[in-house]
This record gives sequence, C-alpha cells and structure tokens, in this order.
Amino acid sequence: SQTAVADFGLIGLAVMGQNLILNGADKGFTVAAFNRTVSKVDRFLENEAKGKSIIGAHSIEEFVSLLKRPRRIVLLVKAGPAVDAFIEALVPHLEKGDIIVDGGNSHYPDTTRRCQELEKKGILFVGSGVSGGEEGARNGPSLMPGGNPAAWPHIKNIFQSLAAKAGDNEPCCDWVGQDGAGHYVKMVHNGIEYGDMQLICETYDMMTRGLGLSEAEVADIFDTWNKGKLDSYLIEITRDVLRYVADDGKPIVQKVLDSAGQKGTGKWTAENALEMGMPVTLISEAVFSRCLSSLKAERVRASEKLNGPKIEFSGDKKQFIDDLEEALYASKIISYAQGFMLMREAAKEYGWELNNAGIALMWRGGCIIRSVFLKDITEAFREDPKLESILFHPFFKNAIDKAQAGWRRVVAQAAMWGIPIPAISTGLAFYDGYRCPKLPASLLQAQRDYFGAHTFRILPEQATPKFPAGADI
Ligand code: NAP
Repeated sequence: SQTAVADFGLIGLAVMGQNLILNGADKGFTVAAFNRTVSKVDRFLENEAKGKSIIGAHSIEEFVSLLKRPRRIVLLVKAGPAVDAFIEALVPHLEKGDIIVDGGNSHYPDTTRRCQELEKKGILFVGSGVSGGEEGARNGPSLMPGGNPAAWPHIKNIFQSLAAKAGDNEPCCDWVGQDGAGHYVKMVHNGIEYGDMQLICETYDMMTRGLGLSEAEVADIFDTWNKGKLDSYLIEITRDVLRYVADDGKPIVQKVLDSAGQKGTGKWTAENALEMGMPVTLISEAVFSRCLSSLKAERVRASEKLNGPKIEFSGDKKQFIDDLEEALYASKIISYAQGFMLMREAAKEYGWELNNAGIALMWRGGCIIRSVFLKDITEAFREDPKLESILFHPFFKNAIDKAQAGWRRVVAQAAMWGIPIPAISTGLAFYDGYRCPKLPASLLQAQRDYFGAHTFRILPEQATPKFPAGADI
C-alpha cells in the first residue's frame, strides 16, 4: 500500500505540526505525517487524526514513498540542529526538484545556507515563517515563505489554502523573497510582537500604578480600545487575561512572577538592527525590558535602596486614559516604521525584492500581531509601493499629528511618576530625532575629531570656516 498519495508530508508532531496537518486535511489535502519519536505518529493517528485524510509513516523511507512528486516536505521541528539532521536524513531519498520547507523559527542565515547547499543537490529549499501559535496553525496561520523561488509554484496553492484569510478573502501568505527572506521577515514580525506587547504592558502599568485603576477597569478600557484603531489580537487577549481571577477573587496577573522569558527572535531583530546600523529602538527597548524584568532579585534589592518620586495624580483621569491610547497608537506606528526601515535595509544588503504591501498583508491575519492597523499599512504601501517611511503617508502623518500632544503628556507624566515606559519614550525620542534636520551629531563629530583625528565634513550651507591654528582637522 506504499503508493504516492499524499499532497504533502509533514515532519514534527508537536503542537504546531499536528495542527497544521489537521488544517491541511480540512482543506482537502492528503497529508503524510512523521516524527522522530515514532510512537507519536500512532498516537496522533489514533486520536486527533482519526478518520481524516492523514497517513502516518514509521520511517523516513516510508514517509518519502507516500508523497506525490515533486515531493513537498514541511519540517516543523525545533529550530537548529534538528532541521539539519532531518535534511541530511531526507536528501538520500529525494530526487531533483523535490521541495523541503522549514516552517520552524530558524535564524535566517541558517536558511540562506541551507538553501544554497540544497540547490547544489537539485533540492528546492524554502524557509517559511509560521505565525499564529497553535490556534493559527489549526485554523489558518500567517505564512511567510522565502527561499528557492522555483519551489513557489509547486507549494503556492497548498500554502495559500492553509493560510489565514484577511479582508476580501485574501490569503495571508505570499512569496517573500530569495534565500532567508521568509525567515527574516518572520524575525522582524516577532520583534514587532515584542514591541507591541511591551507597549501594552506600559499602558497597563500607567493605568494601575499611575492612575490606581483595577485590572477589571483596565480590561474594560482595553475592550473599548479594541473597538477602535487599536483593534488587534494582542489588545483582545490582554483584556481577557486581565479578567482572569483566582479563587481568592484576585486577578491572576497579579500572581504571575514579573520575570519575562524570551526565545531569542526579538534579540535577533535587535542584533540585526545594530549590524545594519538601523535605529530600531522600540523593539530593542522591548528586548531590554524583558532582560531588566528577569533581574528580579536584584530589582527587589534595588527597590529597598533607591528612591523615586511619589505617585500622585490630580488631573483628569478620563483625559489621561485618552492620552494613553494615543501614546500607544503613536508608538506602535513608530515601531512598524522602524521595522519596515530595517527590512528596507536588509533588502538592499541581501539583494531581496521585498514587497512591503505583501508583508503587511501577510501580518494582517493569522499571526500574533494581526490588527486593523496592518490593513492601513497594506493600503499605504499599495498606494505607494516606494513609500520611504510609513510616517510619510498622510494617514499615519495625520494620526501622529493627532496623537502627539497626548503622547508627550504621557511621557512627561511617566517621568514625573517614575514609572518606566521605555518603549513609549523611545518611540517619541525617535520621532523627534527623525524629524530633526540638525542633530547634535555636529558636536559629536567634533569630539571624535578632537581625540581621535577622525576628521569631519562641513555642512554644505556653511562657508569654509576659519579654524584656530593647530586645530586637528
Ligand atoms: P518544538 O517543541 O519546537 O519541537 C518539537 C518537535 O521537534 C518534535 O517533533 C520533536 O521530536 C522535534 N525535535 C526536537 N529535537 C529534535 C532533534 N534533535 N532531532 C529531530 N527532531 C527533533 O515544537 P513546536 O512548538 O510545535 O514548534 C515547531 C517549530 O515551530 C519550532 O521551530 C518553533 O519555534 C516554531 N513555532 C512555534 C510556535 C508555537 O506557538 N509553538 C509558533 C510559531 C513557530 P520528538 O517528538 O521526537 O521530540
């Protein structure tokens, strides 16, 4: 019964893999399933996969023999050596033109390397970002495939069927670009996710510690925000999280240890921004905020020694809550502007042709950062694919104009209260730096020249000035 009947095969029966297989079966595909620990194949077939168009394999050979040609194999295993191990095990059983897709959170340079190594062997490799967690994988994730472009026509239908649909039934999946472009865009997506989450947490802190509101009250505010321009998955789940109460009637969130973990994709984005020399400050602050949070014991010691101001508020609470909404919105615009600047630079560096409107559309549904806001970004880039910065589009320019008075009041108030809002603050600092035609970098260059003879250039509009004798120019 070893006939090639499966439309695609999937290796890795953890949460993501199982759910993506079930999603594929729902969409009418026959899917072959395999896992390193083979007992999980049978467990899956006897339970979740029962009665569906899913076939289990008990060896790599059997798995490969089940696949229609060109063979399409999706790996959803732990990023790193597991991906290389499976590629190595698969290749001897494959033929030229067969396709391997890595759907894990691989680092993009690994994807570029794998793409190039496999191309020499005639195997088409694709690295695809998959976002949306367990539920996304089951019902429609955001998929960001990149790699060997020859693979795309063979997987397009499957991928776009599996993916979430946004707006007018448009799939949240399109070809991103060559080599590691898909995983690169997924990395930036995750970085932006770090930023979005941090921004929400900062407004929560301002409302609870600053204004003295309860979790239930903040949940109601997020519920209202979720009906407007901040309508997004992350605001929605935050509202729900704040409404969970323990047996003693206290909000669960108050009982959760305030030490954030991270798996590294936000850090990769910040590292890449430093490498590219791009000011992706908001995501970087979000990563550092997690780092600071994890120094719990040290912070507790510091709290016993170091002083700050007393938190008091005598203003108009309602007005200030509106200001917080504007501050969150404006900061979010900055974060996405920075993310697209970073991708612009990466495209230049690696020779990718990234389609900004397509990227915004892929993030529009299915993934963790999905929001109404991404529809506005999609539209801005559709209108002007060469848009230098989303901040230059009238929609976002006007949004920031409207938001900025409140945004500034929030940053000022946070400083007076001594409540840290690093992401919101850095967003504003970036905005003010970005719109400044003359920065104090003049002085900085002069300083560099003073001690290091780095030399400097004179502004074109300045006549060559006379420097004192002995000046080191
Ligand atoms: P996971 O815990 O990251 O990985 C478990 C899977 O990897 C199992 O199938 C496991 O096989 C296999 N595996 C681990 N080490 C291996 C090795 N050395 N050799 C061969 N196989 C190995 O699973 P996941 O959470 O479902 O995620 C899968 C991928 O999707 C990851 O790259 C993850 O980062 C990415 N991702 C996850 C989410 C999410 O929400 N969870 C969202 C987007 C993307 P055994 O059963 O034999 O241990």
